[in-house]
Amino acid sequence: MLFNRDKNKSVFDKVNEYLVKKGHELVMSIYLSNYNNNNIYIRFDYIKKLSVYKIVWVDLNFFDEKHIEDFINVQMVTKYLSMKIAEKMMIVEYDNSYSYDDSIIGDRVEILSYFKEEPREYVFDRFLPLEWKQLIDPLAMIFAYLPRSMEVFLNEIFAKFDGTEEKFNYTKPVKFDLFEGDSIKMFRPISIEAGTRLYDAGNVTFLEKVKDKYMAIVEDRGSHLVVLDPVSDGYVLMWCNCKANYYCKHTYAALLALRKKEFKCFYKVKYTGREETLLEKVTIGSFYLCFGVDGDKILLVTEDGAIYPADIIQKGKCVFEVIEDDDDCSLSKILKEYDINNK
Ligand SMILES: [Zn+2]
Repeated sequence: MLFNRDKNKSVFDKVNEYLVKKGHELVMSIYLSNYNNNNIYIRFDYIKKLSVYKIVWVDLNFFDEKHIEDFINVQMVTKYLSMKIAEKMMIVEYDNSYSYDDSIIGDRVEILSYFKEEPREYVFDRFLPLEWKQLIDPLAMIFAYLPRSMEVFLNEIFAKFDGTEEKFNYTKPVKFDLFEGDSIKMFRPISIEAGTRLYDAGNVTFLEKVKDKYMAIVEDRGSHLVVLDPVSDGYVLMWCNCKANYYCKHTYAALLALRKKEFKCFYKVKYTGREETLLEKVTIGSFYLCFGVDGDKILLVTEDGAIYPADIIQKGKCVFEVIEDDDDCSLSKILKEYDINNK
């Protein structure tokens, strides 16, 4: 969900109102809008009465209008650095063109600067454009006053400058139709080739729509869990729990199976042991997704897309009951064996 500035105008107004009362004059603001699902509002303010600059930041995902003072963080900036930031901002050339990328969902950065008479606005998606290089220094100086945890945003914003944007792009939703059209350019030919081979060999052993995501198990020297998640209209997040993680051969194989509509439901099992809370994190309602058994473990799938092996036998008895099996009752037969062996 995007944090819409217009829709949330009242939040910005409240913050502004509060700061005006404290004698703050806005000189520059940086708004990270739905940036990695975060909404961070950062300001570089001048306090006339004291002739000092301060940096203010608010995490809008955790904001309560009724207790504004508890959610607004203010930090004094040294005179030297204030002058440096002002100096650097003054020489940034104005470029009226926005840098939007419609293959990106969220991850917008809006910079507003009042250093010159005319306010200037710099808006871009995810990465600072190379032609706006002059913004690097002032941004880095301002971020130096923010909590260390916000460095991750800055690293990502500057990714074009150190050539790491591919790394960040891989972990994000992409504009893509899961069901038709060309496969995405992010799959390397070698993954496409190997993925097609896995698919042809019938290695996509499970594929089911679970809530809003498609989950698949692809066998390839071990079981790999692939999640194809249509996060928003026309955008998909795809990943796999193998070492490659993104756009791997397993993901490609699962995509082929999905496009051919070759669904095969996961087994559903119920936990009958007493310590219900033990398995709370793998629950999908009252049952668990399962794709088989390995040794004395039953292989469950967590809702957030991880494989969770659980002990089949607890306190001497089988603690899983099959509530949905395949046509051959494969899982029921296997679990029966465990029951018999333990009696
Ligand atoms: Zn994989």
